[in-house]
Amino acid sequence: DAVLSLRGIEKIYNRGRQNEIAVLKGADLALARGEIVALVAPSGAGKSTLLHIAGLLDTADAGEVAFGDTVMTGLGDRRRTIARRRDVGFVYQFHHLLPEFTALENVVLPQLADGVNRRDADARAQELLDHVGIGPRAGHRPSAMSGGEQQRVAFCRALANGPRILLADEPTGNLDPATSDQVFATLMGLVRDTGLSALIATHNLELAARMDRVVKLDQGLIVPG
Ligand code: ADP
Ligand code: ADP
Repeated sequence: DAVLSLRGIEKIYNRGRQNEIAVLKGADLALARGEIVALVAPSGAGKSTLLHIAGLLDTADAGEVAFGDTVMTGLGDRRRTIARRRDVGFVYQFHHLLPEFTALENVVLPQLADGVNRRDADARAQELLDHVGIGPRAGHRPSAMSGGEQQRVAFCRALANGPRILLADEPTGNLDPATSDQVFATLMGLVRDTGLSALIATHNLELAARMDRVVKLDQGLIVPG
């Protein structure tokens, strides 16, 4: 009863051209409920590609993506977009917060897009910001916040619509080591407290070792870490 299943995922870029590159060659991975899995591999191995396919931002050339029992592969764009909004939270190395909006508003916006009313969205956003220890910073714009605070806001935004799956691409890669450690602990706490399943790409083997399981992307396949 996996929350996220990837079965036989293949991805080739520039097919038929001189620079054709087979990045994924039949990758298999299943995330159990509440499981936090580290995805470790060198740069260029295909971590972002795999996360994008898992999160329905990109399509595979072969293989299947399932959320729970529902196979997402082959669904139309509209249904994929709805599933992505409801079920998946994304976190990147850079926060990509909207600079003109406050921390609170950045966490409110995805909820409004999902049809939540403003009052409930505000309440949930404030609750999430409180949970990661930056409640008092809710009214500040990203430019007035530290890198660690900005990334905490990005975590709250990712969780705003109550996803089942969190996909993170080097979530603390842009922070200095001490801050990275604290912010990573915050992320782990948030994922645990919400019962999410998470797939977290990282170069940092110490952080990877703190997750439930480590897998590697090796020659286009997922192997035990
Ligand atoms: P990682 O996240 O592990 O650094 P990526 O998934 O970003 O790896 O990239 C894997 C390989 O695929 C790299 O060689 C990259 O240059 C190539 N690649 C990624 N996206 C594209 C694309 N849209 N078109 C062509 N090549 C791509
Ligand atoms: P990341 O740092 O997350 O691995 P990259 O900087 O590798 O991201 O890639 C950023 C974006 O550019 C991604 O959407 C990726 O698919 C795309 N991309 C990466 N490599 C290539 C490439 N060689 N050709 C075209 N697009 C690429």
